[in-house]
Amino acid sequence: MRILVVEDEPDLSRALRQALEEEGFACDVATDGETAAFDLESWDYDAVCLDLMLPGCDGRTLLARLRERKPTPVLVLTARDALDDKVALLDAGADDYLTKPFELAELIARLRALIRRAANRPEPALAFGEVRVDTVARAVTRRGRPVALSPKEYAIVEYLARHRGELVTRTMIYGHVYDEREDTLSNVVDVYVSNIRRKLGRDFVRTRRGAGYIVDA
Ligand code: CA
Repeated sequence: MRILVVEDEPDLSRALRQALEEEGFACDVATDGETAAFDLESWDYDAVCLDLMLPGCDGRTLLARLRERKPTPVLVLTARDALDDKVALLDAGADDYLTKPFELAELIARLRALIRRAANRPEPALAFGEVRVDTVARAVTRRGRPVALSPKEYAIVEYLARHRGELVTRTMIYGHVYDEREDTLSNVVDVYVSNIRRKLGRDFVRTRRGAGYIVDA
């Protein structure tokens, strides 16, 4: 899952990136409104953490522009605690908000909940025959036994699991599993998928030649 953090306070944006990456998210950081607008245009993020007070552009304006085009879940980070502001934010298309200061663990739990809701998969664990994907523990079991996956393998499994029954292209995987600082080669995803098949069974991921992958059609 790939998250955009829009936050101009360096200490906070660094802490958010570190916490998100530790939790297995790919994370891009934008520290001003123009960069954030460009990133939101360029990528389909799985969720956005949006600070309201930004140089160059107000967070509200970014939210309004995003809502004209994309349903990306948005968690607003706000220093304000007036009730009117919160109501106005939700009315403007924010999906949730956190008032600063907040606990990183709460931010991550709320982001996960937003991503689950956006995928119409409110349940935190997903079952595929003998394979079970627990998106809270970020753990995969096969026939009840834990399966060791690398962070990228897990990220791909979770992305495919959240889109079960849908054709997932390599481009979609690149857009959601890697951040903008990572170099990617087109055959790397194939290597990860072949490792995933070896660990979770050949039938877990099916390949549509020249198109992409599909889980649980
Ligand atoms: Ca700010």
